[in-house]
Amino acid sequence: MSATLAYGVTADNVPLTRMLIQRRELRPDDVEIAIAYCGVCHSDAHMAHNDWKTSIYPMVPGHEIVGHVTAVGSAVTSHAVGDAVAVGCMVDSCLRCAACADHEEQHCENGAVGTYNSRERDTGKPTAGGYSQRIVVREHFVLSMPSSLDLRHAAPLLCAGITLWSPLRRFDAGPGKRVAIVGLGGLGHMGVKLASALGAEVTMITTSPSKGEDAKALGAHHVLLSTDPEAMTAAASRFDLIIDTIPVTHDVGPYVGLVARNGKIVVVGAIEVLAPIHAGMLLRNHRSLVGSAIGGLAATQEMLNFCAEHQVLPNCEVIAMQDINTAWARMQANDVRYRFVIDMSTLAA
Ligand code: NAP
Ligand code: ZN
Repeated sequence: MSATLAYGVTADNVPLTRMLIQRRELRPDDVEIAIAYCGVCHSDAHMAHNDWKTSIYPMVPGHEIVGHVTAVGSAVTSHAVGDAVAVGCMVDSCLRCAACADHEEQHCENGAVGTYNSRERDTGKPTAGGYSQRIVVREHFVLSMPSSLDLRHAAPLLCAGITLWSPLRRFDAGPGKRVAIVGLGGLGHMGVKLASALGAEVTMITTSPSKGEDAKALGAHHVLLSTDPEAMTAAASRFDLIIDTIPVTHDVGPYVGLVARNGKIVVVGAIEVLAPIHAGMLLRNHRSLVGSAIGGLAATQEMLNFCAEHQVLPNCEVIAMQDINTAWARMQANDVRYRFVIDMSTLAA
């Protein structure tokens, strides 16, 4: 075991504070990473505040991790000391079940292990995330960072990026497709960038009139204000694919009404009870209402390579570790454009 500085919470109603945690000794297939940057996902605050009733304390959040390899186990072949690497929302799974064989490790039949607030498969010890100086991760769950991706801005790709990439790819976002993204936050802004880089016609659906110009700068062709009833009526049955990133419970009905014939609306944001929906809305146009959870390792690597090739990078506000509580409060008040990223070199200060 080796001690590592981290920031975390000790209960659901207290601020994040500095703490010391233990990382395991390297197993043969482990990679040790010095964390350079970690993105701040809305899920971090949901988890810390026990919104999903699954929280384990003390908790060190963070699942958008980029850094450099500092040591490798004896059996590691895909990463070497000094390599730029990344870790997303998972650090282990069985790698033997049908879901893992299909490269959907997040749906592992024996339980994927989350980067934090989860338990190691063999020891049952709680996992601790990226708000820390170092992490030890099984080789399969460590991604390669293409050298042309700027590490200072790339961290949010590991959750926000893959969570949008996965449904965009699965449902063929591309030329000739009308795609709408609901909610211009961390996930949503990556949705706009990725869908437009894939060649789709992209509409940003937002509650914030002030974000309209930003949405266009990010690559949206159109902006639709969801609080404008006339504009919403005019957009009825318009979109082949809608991705809804709203982070709280809400009525999806108004968005379902915007789905075109045989189109889909994908809920990725609200991990909550949703307001009832009239099934007639789904019968009409043969609409599908589906969910999507992050993405597997192969898809995540594909997304990183695509982002490197097309220079798709998140818009980040880089902060010091000590500013994390203010950053969380601002994120919850919808005041971030569009992702906070912690510069981990500030942790020891
Ligand atoms: P975020 O940065 O806070 O962005 C959410 C956006 O949703 C806001 O910027 C806002 O956009 C809109 N919004 C907020 N409150 C709203 C409300 N009451 N009604 C309508 N719109 C509202 O959050 P995020 O980091 O993108 O995360 C979004 C959600 O995805 C979180 O709940 C997170 O836990 C979840 N998540 C899911 C997965 C998955 O695998 N499915 C992965 C990661 C995260 P406008 O101002 O444009 O309206
Ligand atoms: Zn996340």
